[in-house]
Amino acid sequence: MAIISAFQADDRGSNPRTRSIMQKEKEQDLMQKVISLCKRRGFVFPASEIYGGFANSYTYGPYGVTLKNNIKKLWWKKFVEDREDIVGIDGPIILHPRVWEASGHIGGFNDALVDCKKCNKRFRADHLVEDATGKDMEGKLSEMKNILDEKVDCPNCKKRDWTDVRNFNLMFATKTNAVAGEEEQIAYLRPETAGAIFIEFKNVVDSTRVKIPFGIAQIGKAFRNEIVAGNFIFRLREFEQMEIEYFIKPDADWETLFEKWLSLQEEFAMELGAKKEKLRRLEHPREKLSHYSRKTVDIEFDYPFGGFKELFGLAHRGDFDLTQHAKFSGEKLEYLDPETNTKYTPHVLEPTFGLDRSILASLLSAYAEEEVNGEMRTVMKFPKKIAPVQVAVFPLLKNKPELVQKAREIFLELKKDFVCEFDDNGNVGKRYRRQDEIGTPYCVTLDFESLEDSSVTVRDRDSMKQERIKISELTEYFKKSLK
Ligand code: ATP
Repeated sequence: MAIISAFQADDRGSNPRTRSIMQKEKEQDLMQKVISLCKRRGFVFPASEIYGGFANSYTYGPYGVTLKNNIKKLWWKKFVEDREDIVGIDGPIILHPRVWEASGHIGGFNDALVDCKKCNKRFRADHLVEDATGKDMEGKLSEMKNILDEKVDCPNCKKRDWTDVRNFNLMFATKTNAVAGEEEQIAYLRPETAGAIFIEFKNVVDSTRVKIPFGIAQIGKAFRNEIVAGNFIFRLREFEQMEIEYFIKPDADWETLFEKWLSLQEEFAMELGAKKEKLRRLEHPREKLSHYSRKTVDIEFDYPFGGFKELFGLAHRGDFDLTQHAKFSGEKLEYLDPETNTKYTPHVLEPTFGLDRSILASLLSAYAEEEVNGEMRTVMKFPKKIAPVQVAVFPLLKNKPELVQKAREIFLELKKDFVCEFDDNGNVGKRYRRQDEIGTPYCVTLDFESLEDSSVTVRDRDSMKQERIKISELTEYFKKSLK
């Protein structure tokens, strides 16, 4: 069995230039294959398709939403349920607008944009300048404009005629219903989930038994009016985050905790199927850190579009957020330490996980093509914990009622404990191919012999080995093997 997963390093060609071109083509090919499998098999659809599509918006289809829910469940279990020091909340998407003043998003959550006057295409000015010079010009709008005029052609039309570089706020604004006699108020769709956590700090401390160090976790949608969205579900305008604010004493040994969190984040990425060598840490240089941050590290994944890019992030944010919200709200956001009987504003570590990027990393890591007896099979080797369907049950033949009836009985029994699918379409080979493509770890086939010996054939997705198992032992068998 030859494995030719397009995600493996290219070992053809010795010329590094040719090699990198071949590698690039192969990676683009992988991306296209994953996108087309996602559409074909109901993981991810381009949204609003019957209206001609709507740029950069996607719908998670029947298997996609299950994969997504499984990833959320895995995260919640690992970081909330299995721990004694983290509790969860679920806050609103639209918060009091002052929240975003306090957090600095209204004033500072900007990207630099520039338009090409010839073709009207819009770009991130900082990205164009960085690609052309290798220099980071964050915030220096006029310097960016000079560099663009001097040496950067429009990547789209190849002409050079740039507008001024402007700051563009990434928050989506909306209006709240005006009460009679009052003016409408501008409100914002949250650009990150963290805001809702900080403003509930006091309520959580007062209503639960958390003791420092402790965390508050949340999963939910966030919205950013990205100038350049794209790369499938990598950069969306509407996406989901899984975030934790982990509050610590101001004099805590934060470096040890920081390292622990990074390891946990990497561990989680690997539980989604990411290989260790596809992950790396990128520490933000001191000069790029926000004034309140002591350390920020991105956990990057090697995506097949341009290499390593952010998957998760971890930041030490000091006491910035609680102090700001205390200042803007007038509420004291302090912690009374029961050990020392002193009050202080805790510091915070913020591990953040992009859910859509997690899904993309798991899809890319799972995708494999294998040659089996001269034929190709495509198989999604998801870790069993996140596979959308756990067990598929087939009768060998569709037109034999005694087989169909017995197979349905098995299906209904297994369905009580596992996510199951029943399939009697086409021949068994075709059903295996379909289940391989959605990543189902086990297929159960009931044949004529089963009616005699009360056993069925269980086929393993990865090894393709087939085993005869007693029908009465199936539940126990899957409980063990899917654990
Ligand atoms: P990037 O540098 O890629 O724009 P960021 O540093 O702005 O990301 P954060 O503000 O740290 O991202 O957001 C936390 C997490 O949310 C990221 O690690 C990423 O997984 C996810 N995320 C951020 N922006 C998007 C987006 N537009 N679409 C999908 N996921 C996103």
